Amino acid sequence: MNQHVANSVAAGLLLTGAQAFAWGAAGHMAVGTIADRLIAGTPAATQVRKILGSNLRTASVWADCAKGVSTSTFKYEGSGHYQECAIYENPASERQMEAFVRRNHDNCTSPHNTEPCHKQYHYTDVAIQRAEYRRGSVGTSEQDVVAAINAALAVLQDREPPAPFRIAGKREALRLLAHYVGDIHQPLHVAAVYVDAKGNVIDPDEGTFDPRTETHGGNDLLIKVSHPAGAKYAPKPLKLHGDWDNVAGAGIQDQPSAAVLSKAREVLATEGEVSGWATAWATESLKLGAVAYGGLLYSPENTSHQHAITLPAGYNAEVKSPTQRDQVVKGGARLAQLVMVLWPE
Ligand SMILES: [Zn+2]
Repeated sequence: MNQHVANSVAAGLLLTGAQAFAWGAAGHMAVGTIADRLIAGTPAATQVRKILGSNLRTASVWADCAKGVSTSTFKYEGSGHYQECAIYENPASERQMEAFVRRNHDNCTSPHNTEPCHKQYHYTDVAIQRAEYRRGSVGTSEQDVVAAINAALAVLQDREPPAPFRIAGKREALRLLAHYVGDIHQPLHVAAVYVDAKGNVIDPDEGTFDPRTETHGGNDLLIKVSHPAGAKYAPKPLKLHGDWDNVAGAGIQDQPSAAVLSKAREVLATEGEVSGWATAWATESLKLGAVAYGGLLYSPENTSHQHAITLPAGYNAEVKSPTQRDQVVKGGARLAQLVMVLWPE
């Protein structure tokens, strides 16, 4: 579900429809599928199957499917809404999602605490003016996506996850890891613009931070759509965040093409210890913020602190689609690299 949407989950599922899932199920499953293909035949693949009882493709959507658990009753209420979650719609799996959400609902205590804790694990909101991801900048927190990847890794390495994370064992940890590695490669899950009421981009780390300038990873930026002649109503404006979540294009979903797989195999391993990889990936996604927000024009805010935006010419074809595809391939390659480091033999 789009970040920071605090409505009841049931209402959210009905209202936000296909936009509800971050990076979209297709993007996450592409990341999982690429990773499954890259680890095939290795000891890591044996461990993954042993822990999950399935593969990374299936695991990759679990953390989003868990958002179908009501935050008031803690019962799974997503049944029938999302095809990719059908595999988890049985009593035993629903209990697992419910337990995760209940455990990770109100355990966040940091100042950046605007929605159920587990929903904050999917993103961070670093201002595009920053050169690197560094904990402490506005938009980062101890429960953001960088922290979440490291918490899942800790559990998979037989260590206690740091607070606030409450992760019940390796199966849950690997499901979360398979999802968050996808999220951190979605530029709008990391890079954020902060915009004042008049529509000027500001630097939230300078002076006193005003939470009203947050745009929530592009969820408060509405792409202007033209009103077709003769149509009674104008189409609903598309959120920039949701637009980036939707990964289109053959060759990266069910069956990655040979070209995609060979590109994934060329992705170099991240330098340094595994414990620093999530930070490095966040910095890389942050730099893509300059691309994702480049040339955008922001209107003054509406009464809900949202801004209508105008995209530069050629944005979708020349900027968004190629970046999405590159990032999905990188996400898949890096998920594979992570599990191969975890289980080399
Ligand atoms: Zn997510």
